[in-house]
Amino acid sequence: MAIAAVTCPNCGATGVNIETAQEYSKCSYCGSMLRTKEVLHLELEGMALEKLRRNARRSFAVKQYGNARADWARAAQIDRTDYESYWGLVCCAMAMHPGRLIRRTGAAAPEGYACDALKEYDCALAYAPPACKAEYKARVEAHNARAREIQEKQWALQRFRDRMYRLRIFLLVVAVALSFLALLGGPIYGAVLGGLAIGAWAGQGIVALKMR
Ligand SMILES: [Zn+2]
Repeated sequence: MAIAAVTCPNCGATGVNIETAQEYSKCSYCGSMLRTKEVLHLELEGMALEKLRRNARRSFAVKQYGNARADWARAAQIDRTDYESYWGLVCCAMAMHPGRLIRRTGAAAPEGYACDALKEYDCALAYAPPACKAEYKARVEAHNARAREIQEKQWALQRFRDRMYRLRIFLLVVAVALSFLALLGGPIYGAVLGGLAIGAWAGQGIVALKMR
């Protein structure tokens, strides 16, 4: 006869010995009757779940987010209340996308702007104990604050580039106008003014290139 060590689903005791040939065994801790098929199935599922979670955490630690995501997604499929796996999926999304995790209302989020993990975030919040919930919220807020900062920096840089571009066009027009005026005034006067104007235009161009 074969003996298997299982976890009792009623009292949570681990290492409960059951006889696999019998349909029922008695838990030696709480005395409840355990259906062999059922507890063995649970045992296998639990082992699979634990393995998936372990692999996911390992992948995440070495930044293999694709692998981590696949394992956490499968773990969440086995146990639909597994908030740690949902949270793992949110962490992957935040690590892979610099964008904010925002609640979309109706219209789609702007391109490259939001993490696509709101459903998982909602599941994590729904099943997590209060202490975890608070931590999850704090971490999403921190991620969003960082994302907003990056976004604002990019916008500022874009505005600066636009201004530089307009200034360049303006300087080019001034350079051409000054060159014409200088031609009327005489060769030395023209060389100095034209040189200055072209120098300013080129210098501005170099600055604009460096900002790229
Ligand atoms: Zn028991």
